[in-house]
Order: sequence, then C-alpha cells, then structure tokens
Amino acid sequence: MVYCSKCAEELPEKAYFCLKCGTRTQKGIEAGVSPPWNWEKQLAQILSTVTKEMEKAVESVRESISKSTQKAPVSCSSCGKKNLGSAKYCYKCGSELK
Ligand SMILES: [Zn+2]
Ligand SMILES: [Zn+2]
Repeated sequence: MVYCSKCAEELPEKAYFCLKCGTRTQKGIEAGVSPPWNWEKQLAQILSTVTKEMEKAVESVRESISKSTQKAPVSCSSCGKKNLGSAKYCYKCGSELK
C-alpha cells in the first residue's frame, strides 16, 4: 500500500493519483502522467453556464444513486478504469469521477 503525500489516504500500489484529493502520487510522477487539472478547469469555465442547469438534475440523480449503490465500483469516464465506489478521483488518470 502507498499513501497520499497530501491527505494520507491509503492508495493501491498502481495508483497514479489519490482517490480522495487527486494529488499525483510518486508513481504517477515517475510514470510521467500529467494531471488533467488545467484543461479541466478551462473546460469547466466554458461549460459552466451550460452545465449549471444539468448539474442540478445530475445532483438529484446522483444522490438517489449513491444511496442505493454506495459500494458499487465507478467506471472512469476518461479511461474506463474501475475505481472504488467511494473514490472521487480516478486512480489511473486522475480525472474526477462523476
Ligand atoms: Zn490525497
Ligand atoms: Zn481514469
């Protein structure tokens, strides 16, 4: 097991990013994986006005889903890797899990 240098979350050996806070792990740095944050922020700004309405709907759906499937694995929408249901960020590519 490895631990996040920022929040001390316990992470899988193969994790490139922290599941909780998205910080890149030593392994991610060694592998040369670049964090997706910059383009994600730009994209978020562009889409923010459009997505605000959608977020409201998604949020209510997400709440009902999380109640019934809290432990179900979450597939990353960027790379398709399965993450723990409690994960907020993909362990492989660092994308935020929806
Ligand atoms: Zn962390
Ligand atoms: Zn991913």
